[in-house]
Amino acid sequence: MPTKKLMHPRTPETLGHSRQRRASLLAGLLLTFTCAHGESPRTNSPIDPHLNGLEDAYLNRQAEAFLLQAGQTLRQFPPRYPEPTERLPALLLLDAVLHDVHAAARPPVQRFYHTRMEAALKAMETTRVREGATIWKLYNMGFIIRTRTVTVAFDLVRGDSARQAGFALPAEIMDRYVDQCDALFISHRHGDHVDEAVAQRFLDQGKPVVAPPQVLAGKPIATRLTHLKREAHTEQVLRIQNGRRELKVVIYPGHQMERTENNVALIITPEGLSFAHLGDQINEPPFMVDYAWIDEVARHHHVDVLLPASWTNEILRIAQGFHPRLVLPGHENELGHPIDDRVPFWGDADFLQLTYPELKRSVYPVIVMTWGESYHYSRNLKTK
Ligand SMILES: [Zn+2]
Repeated sequence: MPTKKLMHPRTPETLGHSRQRRASLLAGLLLTFTCAHGESPRTNSPIDPHLNGLEDAYLNRQAEAFLLQAGQTLRQFPPRYPEPTERLPALLLLDAVLHDVHAAARPPVQRFYHTRMEAALKAMETTRVREGATIWKLYNMGFIIRTRTVTVAFDLVRGDSARQAGFALPAEIMDRYVDQCDALFISHRHGDHVDEAVAQRFLDQGKPVVAPPQVLAGKPIATRLTHLKREAHTEQVLRIQNGRRELKVVIYPGHQMERTENNVALIITPEGLSFAHLGDQINEPPFMVDYAWIDEVARHHHVDVLLPASWTNEILRIAQGFHPRLVLPGHENELGHPIDDRVPFWGDADFLQLTYPELKRSVYPVIVMTWGESYHYSRNLKTK
């Protein structure tokens, strides 16, 4: 095998030269700034404290370039089934940028997130659905589904879980999202799925917020949440739009491990379309009781679309239990998690011991989306 030749060998000397060149360029720019404005140049400290200013500034420029390219490709090849092959490299570029430990603090990442969420909101504000359902994927496990008569939100959050100033969506944008919806379903108590301000706005507008009892427990708002029965396969009625319409709802009594109640909500719209959102449902030995109902869902209910976290253990078994017509995974690149747990679009499935690759090869169609993308689901969807 031929030895690989570096096109730009990085000896300490050349590195030093290029650094010096950039440093003098930067000094020139700063001097111009100083002369033009008659004040001292501000020096921003690096976002990544292990880098110097030039190295850190490079990572911002790289993030900008990668996100621009990814965004262009994703716009050119929107989600559909079968998935366009062009989408995968664009999603992998997102992984590369979003697995910087400090991604949520980088201005290009914040702009990318906000711009996409604002574009999705504008689309939502002008979208009327005649048949089937339009499904928007928002941050983390946030999804909004609109049919001809109803709009339902799941785990809608601004992004405070990234714990980074400037990352979470401005309240004004999130308020407009809430204005578009009829009801909110919160799967469980964790901060990447619950946003109290969002829940409050739903309630202030007289719209139901359905959650398990652990969500916001002990806070005044908890008494205003709707706690439907956590009971496998049992249909309950949730009145929405000031009582004008109703959703049929099954709240499967799920868990994220043993201690966290996780509502797995199956929503049946007035059109008879059904959507199951899994929140952070996860089952590991020895706590496997939830499979008693997971394996049986399809015997009781038709499921159009399943919305699981991409890292769900035994995701293929779960898909077989729900037997959906389409799977739309979520929860990739939650920036509040350490990078080894910020599950990427490329999967990391061997290390995480997931059956996600098997799901993708199975009879179940899977469409992978990112922040702000939407997909129109029709019962005419042609599958394998
Ligand atoms: Zn989560």
